[in-house]
Amino acid sequence: MSRQARIIDGKAIAADLRATIKTATEKMARKHDIQPGLAVVLVGEDPASQVYVRNKGRQCAEAGMKSFTHRLPAETGEEQILELVENLNRAPAVDGILVQLPLPGHIDANRIIDAIDPDKDVDGLHVINAGRLISGREGLRPCTPVGCVMLARHALGDLQGLNAVIVGRSNLVGKPLAQLLLNENCTVTIAHSRTRHLNQVCHGADLLIAAVGVPELIKGSWVRPGACVIDVGINRVDAGGGKMRLIGDVEFDTAVKTAGFITPVPGGVGPMTIACLLLNTLRAACTHHDIALASYIDLTRI
Ligand code: NAD
Repeated sequence: MSRQARIIDGKAIAADLRATIKTATEKMARKHDIQPGLAVVLVGEDPASQVYVRNKGRQCAEAGMKSFTHRLPAETGEEQILELVENLNRAPAVDGILVQLPLPGHIDANRIIDAIDPDKDVDGLHVINAGRLISGREGLRPCTPVGCVMLARHALGDLQGLNAVIVGRSNLVGKPLAQLLLNENCTVTIAHSRTRHLNQVCHGADLLIAAVGVPELIKGSWVRPGACVIDVGINRVDAGGGKMRLIGDVEFDTAVKTAGFITPVPGGVGPMTIACLLLNTLRAACTHHDIALASYIDLTRI
């Protein structure tokens, strides 16, 4: 009889986290008459971004937060976006600002991110927050990597001493995730497009995290028996009959037979990203109003 990995149910874990955040938000409203607010800036009509932005707005409302969506046409100039960001930096009702990426090609995304007040940067992408993460200071952390660590901790408990291999070195996922896992006392390897013998590198992992964007790159035979596999990849592939389906960076059907734990796509990392965005918004609201987040949420539990 072949063994099967335990599926890490990101949907359920994210729902749990959102419920905890909602309770904290309600308590904050009662005690301080504060309602955290998230402003989302969407430039252009990218269909995937439209879906993400809609979901973010809905989940904000469900968590008892205010959301302000600013939709701008694709041809909007950089100066106009910068002006909007400056206004949001000053707006008292806005605790968190998220500029949905990717931005249209004529916009310098770094220039826009640099303009966001680091204490409102709920995507955790500002260089100040990247520096705070590297140097072990308090700050807003990128949502997807934080979600990955939560899922790994949910499956494995204490991560200390584990060999963690991250495939992918983007500023959005791979690099901040490496730092977060170092903070968990893992031994961290970052693999990337120039890594030699990727299969062997992956095979050394107790915790294997794929954030590549190449459908089913990681095969089941690359996974060490019993390892925990977190699949960040979201790849839209042709499912036939004019339909598309989502698959990850890991070949799920083979990896599930070798791994000890594995996240599905969809329903793994994706839901955690938005839940962590809400958590960051709550965190930013606490900073904004000089309140201790720990008085609302048991941070040791998440
Ligand atoms: P990216 O394109 O910025 O980075 C991809 C990384 O993969 C690069 O560092 C590159 O070196 C590495 N890479 C590319 N080809 C490789 C190969 N053949 N072998 C080894 N490494 C290789 O992508 P990203 O923004 O980090 O996103 C990665 C994936 O995660 C994408 O599928 C994206 O859609 C997904 N993603 C999901 C979420 C979520 O919430 N679930 C959030 C962010 C990104």
